[in-house]
Amino acid sequence: MGGKKLRVGWFSFTCCEDSTMVFIELMNDHLDEWRKLIEFRHARVLKKNNTLSDIDVAFVEGAITNDKDANYLKEIRENSKKLIAIGACAVTGMPAAQRNNFDQETKNEIQFLIKRFDQADRVRKVSEVVKVDGEIPGCPMEEPIFLSALQGCLKEFGVVNA
Ligand code: SF4
Repeated sequence: MGGKKLRVGWFSFTCCEDSTMVFIELMNDHLDEWRKLIEFRHARVLKKNNTLSDIDVAFVEGAITNDKDANYLKEIRENSKKLIAIGACAVTGMPAAQRNNFDQETKNEIQFLIKRFDQADRVRKVSEVVKVDGEIPGCPMEEPIFLSALQGCLKEFGVVNA
C-alpha cells in the first residue's frame, strides 16, 4: 500500500448514537485493516484533537434539531468531498422527528422545552440541510451496507484498487 489513506470524519447530531456504537463494535474485526487505510480527521468518539478540513468522506449520524447544528452541518459539508448520512435519524429524520407530526395541542404542550433547549420548530433530516452523496439506512445503520459504502469510498479515492 502506497500510504495513501481515506480521510474520514465521523459526526453525531441529535440521536442515541447507536450507529456510532455499531461502528465501534466493527473495530473489533476491522481495526488492524482500517489503521492502514483510514485517517480519522475528525471523530470525537475516538480522539480529542480533531480537524475539520480536507475530509474525503464525512459520515453523519442523527437528526438536525436546531440552527446551530444546521450551521455546523453546512461547515462539515464545505470541508468534505463526500457526505454520507448514516442511520434512520439522519436519513429520514425519524424517530427523532416524531414531534413534527404532533397535533397542535401537543405542540403547545412541549413549546416550553423547544424554547428552553433552543430547538427549531421542525426536526430535519440531513438532506434537508445539505447535499447528501449516500445514505445508510437502518436503526441503527445496517452494517453490511455501511461496510460496502466504506469499501466503495476506499476505491473511489484510490486507497485500494478498484
Ligand atoms: S437511527 Fe436509530 S439507532 Fe441510529 S441514532 Fe437514530 S434512533 Fe438511534
